[in-house]
Amino acid sequence: MKVTSIRLVAVGAVATLALAACGSGSSGGSGAAATGGTVKVGIKFDQPGLGLKTGSTYTGFDVDVANYIAKELGFTPEFVEAVSSQRETLISSGQVKYIVGTYSITDSRKQKVSFAGPYFIAGQDLLVRSDETAITGPDSLTGKRLCSVKGSTSAANLQKKYPGINLQEYNTYTLCVDALKAGSVDALTTDNTILAGYAAQEQNKGKLKVVGTTFSTENYGVGLKKGDTAFCDQVTTALNKFIDSGEWQKSVDKNLGPAGFKPGPGNPPKPAPCS
Ligand code: GLU
Repeated sequence: MKVTSIRLVAVGAVATLALAACGSGSSGGSGAAATGGTVKVGIKFDQPGLGLKTGSTYTGFDVDVANYIAKELGFTPEFVEAVSSQRETLISSGQVKYIVGTYSITDSRKQKVSFAGPYFIAGQDLLVRSDETAITGPDSLTGKRLCSVKGSTSAANLQKKYPGINLQEYNTYTLCVDALKAGSVDALTTDNTILAGYAAQEQNKGKLKVVGTTFSTENYGVGLKKGDTAFCDQVTTALNKFIDSGEWQKSVDKNLGPAGFKPGPGNPPKPAPCS
């Protein structure tokens, strides 16, 4: 396939040829970077305010970012669930074209995928039951049972900073929320954005609270195929437009506002050039 050379010209009539050359208007990780067809896009399905699937409807800040990129690049997104531990695989195997899913940019992930961004800065925090008084921050976790998700920076950070801590790793954050409510763990740790969404959910009101002492910096990026600089440049242009046009702020207010979440210092960030 001549996709690589075609991709450089990207838009317009040439892209129609590119799609024809691929034999399909639907593409995951390969094929034309833009124009016309449907592309598979990874998001979270169970993170209120960020990426949430309700019936056949998708809502959240990350969903807005994913839709904005798709609109700017001229294609229709088809959403696929990207749980934390599957993200690199979904991208490198071409099952999704890109992922917008509270996906922190890290050096180890950059061995396998590339990132456009950051488009948001979050920080790791703790979610506990409302009546919890002993857990006031990461330094009061000794002897407590923690929950986080496989393949997340949250689990890795905690194990690195507090080796020997009692950490259970599940596949999704909702499983941790259930375990926390059931009393089988004492705290859930991940990004403050995600935790605020759970605390504000109708069924959790009065039951859960965010501790509010952040102890990491999570730079959210759009994950895409490693080394696809042309596509990364297009996504970065879309992210800059999303931020500069005021859409970023509108989406933050709409999606994170109801949970009372205010973005921390450094927001909105300036996306870095692709390399
Ligand atoms: N932002 C962190 C990460 O990328 C935690 C949230 C998540 O698992 O999506 O691992």
